[in-house]
Amino acid sequence: MYPLSPILSIDLGGTHCRIALLGPKGLSVERFATPLHPRAFYELVDGYLKKQAQKAQLIGLAFAGTLDPAQGIIYHSANLPGWARVPIRQELEERFNLPVFLGNDANLACYGEARMGGGQGVKNCLMLTLGTGIGAGAMVAGKLLVGAQGLALEAGHLPINFTGPPCGCGQLGHLEAYASGSGIVAVARAMGLKVTQAEEVFALRESNQVAGEVISQAQFALGRGLAGLVHLLDPELILFGGGLSKQWDALIQPACQQMEKELLPPFRGKLKLRPAQLGEEAGLWGAAFFAEDQWKQKQGIKN
Ligand SMILES: [Zn+2]
Repeated sequence: MYPLSPILSIDLGGTHCRIALLGPKGLSVERFATPLHPRAFYELVDGYLKKQAQKAQLIGLAFAGTLDPAQGIIYHSANLPGWARVPIRQELEERFNLPVFLGNDANLACYGEARMGGGQGVKNCLMLTLGTGIGAGAMVAGKLLVGAQGLALEAGHLPINFTGPPCGCGQLGHLEAYASGSGIVAVARAMGLKVTQAEEVFALRESNQVAGEVISQAQFALGRGLAGLVHLLDPELILFGGGLSKQWDALIQPACQQMEKELLPPFRGKLKLRPAQLGEEAGLWGAAFFAEDQWKQKQGIKN
């Protein structure tokens, strides 16, 4: 079940960075503030590796931003401006003399859930990570969907509405602008609520009409976005992760009811819906399994 060879797994998030050595015995995770510049990150990895008695044989990296897994280059992260056009694979391989495999954090969270968590044994599975932003990943016929450049499943930028609130990407009416943590707060503030966290808007939704309206827009938008994804991918299971997935009754359930209304008849009433199981460690597990599987594939070893 666990990876057979020790793998250095790294999940580089917008705020926090988790590092673990995963192997046959499981993992123990260390958490750091994400370094603002790659140079500080290499020193962090070096310090971590020096502490470990067990030697890693591979590095798997999940990154919260756009990247090219084939070229091993990080392009951009909205929260980490110092991480633009970083040839991360080359840098890590030269420093640590280990093969490096990387992917988008939401894609790899789905891979982790598929191998170790809520998506085990399911060949066609969609996972949505609902947090400050919205990420997604999908297993299609048992394989992780990465796309031509590793950019597949940027679900936060699904168009929901011609107009609508501005998205962080500069366009209008995207899913993330309605149903992410940052989107819910921005819409609520534009409507006059003095809030800083999406949880506050959820807490107010029954006593305050404006908060109720913001949450009902988020439910509708998420339902519409999900219907679009289901029409494209035809999954049998949808997993929900990220901080906002805890709002199951206030967000996920009503959104899935909306999705059902918008689905073509053959899709209706068949989808399994589950909370993701690995929590904040999904990306770490996903990065490790992805590294192991990609490495095996490169060596011509069958799973
Ligand atoms: Zn957008």
